Amino acid sequence: MESGEWRQAAEEADLVEGRLVEVAVGDRQVLLVRTGGRIHACAAECPHYKGHLARGSLSGYTLTCPSHNARFDLRDGRLLSPPALGDLAVHEVKVERGKVWVRLGEAPRIEMPAGTDDRAFLIVGGGAAGAAAAETLRREGYSGRIVLLTQEPVGPYDRPSLSKDYLTGEAPAKWLPLRGEKFYDRLRIELATGSRVTSLDPRSRTLTLADGSTMRGERILLATGSVALRPPVPGIDLPGCFTLRSLADADALIAGLPAGGSVAVLGASFLGLEAASSLRKRGLEVRVVAPEEVPLEKVFGARIGRRMKAEAEKEGVRFHLGTTAISVQGNGRARYLVLSDGSHLEADAVLIGVGVRPAVEYLAGSGLAEAGAVPVNARQATAAEGIFAAGDIALFKEASGGPPRRIEHWTEAERQGRHAARAMLGRSPLPREAPFFWTRQHGKSLKYVGHAPVWDRLVFRGNPLEGSFLAGYYVGNVLRAVASLGKDRDQDLIRLGEALEAGRSVSPERFSDPDFDPLELSTGPGRA
Ligand SMILES: Cc1cc2nc3c(=O)[nH]c(=O)nc-3n(C[C@H](O)[C@H](O)[C@H](O)COP(=O)(O)OP(=O)(O)OC[C@H]3O[C@@H](n4cnc5c(N)ncnc54)[C@H](O)[C@@H]3O)c2cc1C
Repeated sequence: MESGEWRQAAEEADLVEGRLVEVAVGDRQVLLVRTGGRIHACAAECPHYKGHLARGSLSGYTLTCPSHNARFDLRDGRLLSPPALGDLAVHEVKVERGKVWVRLGEAPRIEMPAGTDDRAFLIVGGGAAGAAAAETLRREGYSGRIVLLTQEPVGPYDRPSLSKDYLTGEAPAKWLPLRGEKFYDRLRIELATGSRVTSLDPRSRTLTLADGSTMRGERILLATGSVALRPPVPGIDLPGCFTLRSLADADALIAGLPAGGSVAVLGASFLGLEAASSLRKRGLEVRVVAPEEVPLEKVFGARIGRRMKAEAEKEGVRFHLGTTAISVQGNGRARYLVLSDGSHLEADAVLIGVGVRPAVEYLAGSGLAEAGAVPVNARQATAAEGIFAAGDIALFKEASGGPPRRIEHWTEAERQGRHAARAMLGRSPLPREAPFFWTRQHGKSLKYVGHAPVWDRLVFRGNPLEGSFLAGYYVGNVLRAVASLGKDRDQDLIRLGEALEAGRSVSPERFSDPDFDPLELSTGPGRA
């Protein structure tokens, strides 16, 4: 179909103010929205994982995807917030004699800015934060040199898939790259794969690489992510014991999986539980060994933890809780675990999912790392002039107070990368969103927005033990975080997340009142 043609898309009378409507126009799906006195049309799918935007939420002109909370400006399709990286296609609209017509457009490309900036910006780490920062620099019009250094043999890819669809075998390797090579060439982002940085001199802003070469940058962004931990257990380095952080780790794990055999997963972390789910899908026998009595209890509370455990057990995962592995045994290869409760657990492979630590060894002696992480201010700036940090390694203080903390989540790393890029260019800061993360296990997506390391009251809408629900985490009467599970439409979660960002609370009584509609929290057009 010619994109220049006007095509009839809907009856004007069918478009109710503020309602998101998806229609087919030729072979394209289009989102139509009447708001602020006109009708808008844009792509119906989020560029990240193709989430259905019609099931999302609209606040003012901010359109939020229900899948992973990417945000766009409805008027021009501009990306406002990751995990999507690209903009939405917007379509021209006209109304004639009660019929809505659209002329289809294409998603705008990020273009290489014109200009003669002769500076060099170096980004250490080609993960979520580094990749988002590189793109943002170009979006913001920076025309100088960008070098994206990564120790991995490949460019930025979708790390969260490694424990999910890539591990089940449903996502082929070609789906993983965040961008193709042509994208980086066109935007002149120099992708330096296989480049491990071994030290940094903050005064001269000079990096040294493993091959002894050096590189100086006007600005440097540190975004080196995390390293998977191995517990100090005899035998943990035997062949057959795996960690899962990189694509190479995932490939090694998949290659080492016994056909139809058994895998012991050490740790009931997000990664451990997701991997357990994926390994079951591959038909393997899976046992999870962890010291806690209820998985995920610390983050979500006991009821949600028990629910996730029950979902896993329904799919055949077996738990060995309240115990740890004290050794891995085998004749030259992992064969069984000895547990602290005295039992033995046979396993053809062991997946270690006991947590991570920030990857900051190369900063030894630079004065930038403190207690194994990199302190940053609200603009992602480190203590050294011109040097910034983002993602898993960044340690920051929240405006709302509390001890400094790091966040180990994909979307947050991308957001921090974007904030850092703007700060590197001296641009004004953008508003910060409430932290958001998701985990997917056994076909259930559990999402969380906000931050409540402790709470004194947990209230629910729906039953956490079965079906879909929202959970509100309160300190006193103040809502600090919201979790949701199994909701087709996550509009309620989105609205409550936006309320958290705006510093508004919802009383526990209102939260759990079935008559309360979080749509009431919405703000009028013009918010974006
Ligand atoms: C298997 C898996 C599943 C996950 N699933 C989810 C999920 O569902 N939801 C969610 O919110 N989060 C998830 N996460 C967490 C999320 O991926 C991380 O929080 C995020 O990737 C952090 O981004 P980052 O840019 O800080 O680091 P990374 O994405 O880890 O990127 C850092 C990069 O820097 C490179 N590097 C490190 N040291 C050096 C050096 N010295 N020189 C050069 N390069 C270096 C690394 O090799 C890596 O390529 C998952 C993580 C894993 C491992």
